[in-house]
Amino acid sequence: MTADSVYIHVPFCIHRCGYCDFTVIAGRDDLIDDYLKCLELEIARSITSPQPVSTIFIGGGTPSYLPEPALQRLLTVVNQWFPLRPDGEFSMECNPDGLTPAKMKILRVHSVNRISLGVQSFNSQHLQTLERTHHAETVDTVFNQLRDNGFTNISLDLIFAVPDQTLADWEADLKTVIALNPEHVSTYGLTFEKGTQFWTRRMKSQLIPADDELEREMYSVAMNTLEDAGFRQYELSNFAQPGMECRHNKVYWQSAPYFGFGPGAASYLNGVRAMRHRSVTTWIKRIMAGESGIAETEELNSEDRAREAVMLGLRQVEGIDLEQFQQRFSYPLPDLAPNAFDRLIEDQLLTLDQGKLRLTKTGRFIADSIMAEFL
Ligand code: SF4
Repeated sequence: MTADSVYIHVPFCIHRCGYCDFTVIAGRDDLIDDYLKCLELEIARSITSPQPVSTIFIGGGTPSYLPEPALQRLLTVVNQWFPLRPDGEFSMECNPDGLTPAKMKILRVHSVNRISLGVQSFNSQHLQTLERTHHAETVDTVFNQLRDNGFTNISLDLIFAVPDQTLADWEADLKTVIALNPEHVSTYGLTFEKGTQFWTRRMKSQLIPADDELEREMYSVAMNTLEDAGFRQYELSNFAQPGMECRHNKVYWQSAPYFGFGPGAASYLNGVRAMRHRSVTTWIKRIMAGESGIAETEELNSEDRAREAVMLGLRQVEGIDLEQFQQRFSYPLPDLAPNAFDRLIEDQLLTLDQGKLRLTKTGRFIADSIMAEFL
């Protein structure tokens, strides 16, 4: 069982945002100590000896929400069990509020070299709609402090299609993000997931989603504006300055193996996907009792692996090399969607160029329905 990448999930947040459907727990800081204990136990039981890796991603939740001693302890455990290889990438998700210079120093000392900052918007009205707890002005301060503390690889996350957000508001956000000059930008259209408060409020017509046409236009503006500013789109939602793509996320899109630890985290090893319990208290109870934190496993057969690789691979703008695909999965890719393959190319939603299959720019707007043809 081996992999060159690891994901660690930290579920704590100051507040659960209304649209969030991640594994998150708010108002239970009393669990932080047990969480850290269990994380170490889960890792120690799974890998038994330290495993050098090329990419580490600590996500959440809000990992930067952890108080300084807890952050120290988390990073010490990660450094001990997953020493970063030379030139490795070590990302951590942070929110602008509470990311103090003292915490930045702790991150640096423990080899974190890439920060993914949950900005979401620079507009106070939309930040309020999204129930984010930081102020727009904080981002500028925190960004500069990160630079002062030596972080040269910073990604900023933005959300578009927020209720009542206009195209001009979105253009202003993009302009502000470009002015900050980060290495990487991620842009996500707001989704209303079943089970979230936003879903309930939408059902009661208390929140009206942006209309489809406006959302499309916002996505299009993001692609054009960021590209004009020197960012290269390398995935449906991700843009990077040359050479600054997130290497960890590429591991997922290339269907490569990875370790995963913490509540709600998935691992993918030897063709088996293992999902840990999403309930933080259940995950803690089970690990404390000497049981596994894994809630379910799924062993993908070779055809499932191939189908999944298409779904993930098409997210990347560089597309999928058909010859390599066939060598790796023993399936000719077109055979996975025999009725749709040629049509999608004729309709200019997919393009086949120098042996690589890619979504066209038009295809990117309806990526989900195109990928569904390969399921
Ligand atoms: S800060 Fe992020 S992870 Fe935490 S509740 Fe909000 S959206 Fe979810």
